Amino acid sequence: MPFARVFNTLRTSTSISWKPTGKLQQTLASVIERSGKTLHSGAFSTAKLFPAMAGEGRFFVCGDRRSIIPASIDFVTETALCTTLCRDGARIRTVEHLLSALEATGVDNCRIEIFGADEVPLLDGSAREWVEAIEQVSLCAAKDHNGNSIDKMAPFLQEPVHVWRNDSFVAAFPSSELHITYGINFPQVPTIGCQWFSSVAMDDYFYAKQIASSRTFCIYEEVEQLLSAGLIQGGSAENAIVCSTSKGWLNPPLRFPDEPCRHKVLDLLGDLSLFAQNGNQGIPIAHIVAYKGGHSLHAEFVRRLSGLS
Ligand SMILES: [Zn+2]
Repeated sequence: MPFARVFNTLRTSTSISWKPTGKLQQTLASVIERSGKTLHSGAFSTAKLFPAMAGEGRFFVCGDRRSIIPASIDFVTETALCTTLCRDGARIRTVEHLLSALEATGVDNCRIEIFGADEVPLLDGSAREWVEAIEQVSLCAAKDHNGNSIDKMAPFLQEPVHVWRNDSFVAAFPSSELHITYGINFPQVPTIGCQWFSSVAMDDYFYAKQIASSRTFCIYEEVEQLLSAGLIQGGSAENAIVCSTSKGWLNPPLRFPDEPCRHKVLDLLGDLSLFAQNGNQGIPIAHIVAYKGGHSLHAEFVRRLSGLS
């Protein structure tokens, strides 16, 4: 795909300016396969990750009809406790940890085939296993149909953008580098309480060392309610850290003292990756500050960036 055509098809709005990163679009050098329990249905699924051509971006292939669902904000439907993509009756749930790992490590183009349940396997509740698998197979420059590599573009934020709901918000400010600051507040769970995490500069090395291994967390007293609502059927002490309002962490040790807050950064990066198009970067270059956000608010922020809301 000629450079000009890729540039012209990028989503633009007054708040975003696309600039070259000085890097080429990448893909996996070989195939990755991981299987495991899924969070919400509790059934097993297998994810096979294949190299893809430059300009194709990241996309899922799933369901009986092997439907193609691009990992794009255009296909986000539900965001209750996970991010779900849907197209033509096919759906794929809990995409955020895998997409977070792919975006952060620079797997710009990837075909993700899902077999079994309509969810990405949860593994240990973090992105660690995905990052380790990507490091093992390594990356290479992606080529287009003519055998050419393509420059990778990144969206730079030009003006402040924010979304909010009650006392939650995601706000982003222009910056020459990517910084993420995240706050959570659980006054009813004193062991978690109010935490803030701020990245010095978010790059692939920082992500792999400081963010990727942070696991999903849940509040013990809320588990019963979620189970009876048909959610988190596959949740367990093996794939989440569980905190009780009165007894504190029930399955220590934590990997970081502020592991819950770091996991929110992991989730946010996965949801921001849905701004990616044509194998370019999804996460906007900005200082992004979020407080008490969730997948739904993250998705609303991406829609605002896209000029869709
Ligand atoms: Zn998560």
